Amino acid sequence: MKIQIIRCLKDNYSYLIIDETNLNACIVDPGESKPIIDFVESNNINLKYILNTHHHFDHVDGNTELKKKYNSSVIGFSGDRDRIPKIDILVNDQEIWREDNFEAKIYHTPGHTSGHIAFHFFKEKKIFTGDTLFSLGCGRIFEGTYEQMFNSLKKIKSLPKDTEIYCGHEYTLQNSNFCASYDTNNLQLKNKITKIKEKLRNGLPTIPSNLDEELQCNIFLKADDLQTFSKLRDLKDNF
Ligand code: ZN
Ligand code: FE
Repeated sequence: MKIQIIRCLKDNYSYLIIDETNLNACIVDPGESKPIIDFVESNNINLKYILNTHHHFDHVDGNTELKKKYNSSVIGFSGDRDRIPKIDILVNDQEIWREDNFEAKIYHTPGHTSGHIAFHFFKEKKIFTGDTLFSLGCGRIFEGTYEQMFNSLKKIKSLPKDTEIYCGHEYTLQNSNFCASYDTNNLQLKNKITKIKEKLRNGLPTIPSNLDEELQCNIFLKADDLQTFSKLRDLKDNF
């Protein structure tokens, strides 16, 4: 499987997961349709599936147009059946979604929204975390509780350390400033920030990250009790 990163809207990332044996593909979180159609058309991709991590507009606004054009199936959390546009296939926590050569385990990760999910392509060791886990940050808590978000991150933390993290936004640099100001002596974080700045200078995404680096550098993953996590989340909201 090849991952093509497609920029959407201001700072969103959609990910095209391409099976290179037959050019079948899934798109994760199409925040808009135009940049995805452009890539699909010029590369003869069969856009068969639309995977949504949650119902926010910047993750689903491309659903209707893409489904109309390519007759793709929309996959989303069962609890969000009324909020995800054009949803076809309802999935639940811990379920394995399989179609063609695609295989992903679903993790329900509430906190940012009550129906947020992550798609873990375990054979490829890649997880699509939407607005739950960002590189060096985590999503704002809109619908859930601190405890739900803390537990959702815990699920991701327990995956193999070489898992690649594909998140919903390019927020890495802003997040790194927060981590750096509350974790001042972290050498690995400093090294990661140098790499991040170099990528951005060259116009490249800072994504994917990987779980090993996030465990060392992401202050929200380093927090090992709910109280510390909640305090950090509050500080970040006002940072
Ligand atoms: Zn969101
Ligand atoms: Fe978002």
